This record gives sequence, C-alpha cells and structure tokens, in this order.
Amino acid sequence: MKSSILIIYTGGTIGMKTDPETGTLVPFDFSAIYQEFPSLKRLNVAIEVHTLTPVIDSSNVQPQNWITLAELIRSKYGHYDGFVVLHGTDTMSYTASALSFMFENLAKPIVFTGSQIPIGVLRTDGRENLITAIEIAGAKDEYGHPLVPEVSLYFQNHLFRANRTTKRSAEALSAFYSYNYPPLADVGVNIAYNRTLIHQPDHWMEPLRVSNNFSDKVCVVKLFPGLNEQILSSILSIEGLQAVVLETYGAGNAPTADWFIRPLEEAIARGLIVLNITQCKGGGVAMELYETGLRLQQIGVTSGYDMTIEAAVTKLMYLLGSKADASEVKQALEVSLRGELSH
Ligand code: ASP
Repeated sequence: MKSSILIIYTGGTIGMKTDPETGTLVPFDFSAIYQEFPSLKRLNVAIEVHTLTPVIDSSNVQPQNWITLAELIRSKYGHYDGFVVLHGTDTMSYTASALSFMFENLAKPIVFTGSQIPIGVLRTDGRENLITAIEIAGAKDEYGHPLVPEVSLYFQNHLFRANRTTKRSAEALSAFYSYNYPPLADVGVNIAYNRTLIHQPDHWMEPLRVSNNFSDKVCVVKLFPGLNEQILSSILSIEGLQAVVLETYGAGNAPTADWFIRPLEEAIARGLIVLNITQCKGGGVAMELYETGLRLQQIGVTSGYDMTIEAAVTKLMYLLGSKADASEVKQALEVSLRGELSH
C-alpha cells in the first residue's frame, strides 16, 4: 500500500527558484511538484501539498505560527500517513522543537526540512532534502507502522530528533546538527535507520492531543564576562516575567560574586524560574561539578541538563502555557518529555 504524505510549505529558501527569463528568485510552485520532479512518481508515496498563506521567512515566525501549523496537522492527521514540513532554516529548530512538545500521543512522522540553496537553483541541496524527507515520512516497518513516529528534522544525509537540533552553519550544506543525541537515520546509498534510538508510542491508536498555549513571559540571558548587576537586575525585574533561561559557561557555571547571585536568589524566591543551559553546543549542565555551578543549585536554579537552547525555550513556553503551578513546571523541566534531554 502506498503511503500518503502531506507536504506543508511554510516559507524559506527551499521554496524559491530562479526565473529563467529574469534571473531573479521567484516562488517555487509545490503544487506542481510532480511536474518539477517527475522522478517522485517512482517513490511508493502519494503526495499532496498545502501551502500556508502567507509564506514567511522563518525569522518572522512567532508562536502563533506554531499553533497554525500544529492545528493544520491535527485537522489532517487522520488522512495521511506522514507529514513533511518545509520551513526556513533560521528558526526551524525552534518550530520543530515547539511542535514536539505540543503533540501528545503522536504516532505518525512529522519530518521538517528546508535548504541552504533555493530548490530551483542548479546546485540546490533542497531536492535531495525534500525527496529523502518524503521517503522517510512514508517509510513503514514490517508491521505497517511508521518507522519514525516522532517529530524529526532531515538535513544533508542525517535524520535527527527535532528537539535535539541546532542550526550550526549559515554556510555549510550540513546546516543542522544534534550534538547530544545520535542521528535517527544516516543516509547514504541506503537509508540506515537507527531503530533503537527512535521513539515508539505506547499505543498506536490514542487520539492526538495538541496543546496550543505558550507563555510569552520568558527570556534568555547569555552570560559573558562584563555582564553587570544593573543589566541583570533590570532584566529580572521585568513586570510579569515568569522564567529566564540562563545560558551559562561550560558545565553550567556562572560568577559566584554577590552582585550576581543575590538578585537571582531574590527573583527565585519571588517565584521566577531560572533554567540553566550551557552555552556549549555539546555536553550539558552538571551544577554539582564546580563551586561556580553549585552556588546556582543552592539558590534553586533548575538544571536543563543537555537540552539545546531551542528545546529549552520552547519547552518552558509550552509548560508555562499549559501548567498553572510553578513547581509542576520545574519538575517537568528536569525530565524528558519528548526525548529532548538525557538524564
Ligand atoms: N531566512 C531563511 C529562512 O529561515 C533562510 C532559509 O530558509 O534557509 O526562512
């Protein structure tokens, strides 16, 4: 049986081609996908395309766009075996991480991809990314279950768990990487699925649930030598602020000076959540390792372990939007909800 796949085009470089007459970049018509790529007919999938309007550069994406996308997938969920989301690369990891948290009981593939070079340019990376993403979204195991029933991101020969990814290069075609979790599949001549690493749902037929409330009272503070009390204190006193993601050094370390610790301690006592995420791409937070991390642990800073900044921000926004109680939010931050952290 052919798999049926819905391609959702949201915007970004992948959807551009060069007009042969003017030489300028114009939108690519994904609804004519079989004309553009006749070889797609050879894949064992039936493809339909939905273009979100307006298509946007992903730098303009806001939580409302995550909700529109998730609601679209929810409304089409029963009609397709899998979904391919074409998205600008700049904030793709944020959108894909957000969706991973929004969906409960997900049992079908949602594969994000995009490209660094427009799809209608001769040397594009988009053609391969698109075709392989479609093949992965339609792949089934020996029981007829989808091979990758989670939110994933495919780029340049690797399929990653979406909420483990980061855009690492504005230049390289291998633009994305997952530093703390191995690829779900490696693509060469064949697609080699690392099946033990792929999440399997507890039940295949549970109804899909979508949470679509996000807090907008979250901010990120990146440490640097020179950050001072005035800046830190004015951020911590923002009216209504619910949480700060503190991007710390190394294994979750920060200054031990009183000017830094005291305002944080007071803010936590007032109910602010402070989530510790390392600035390093690989590895994670271990606050007990150094005196400079231990102080943070002692004042009630929450560990983000090895989450990416994209996963940390979207998880916080999602949890604060759906749980009333701050202690529940803190507890949920430190456990893996969708495979986003190793702990
Ligand atoms: N600025 C574009 C975007 O994120 C870049 C891309 O698609 O690669 O929408």
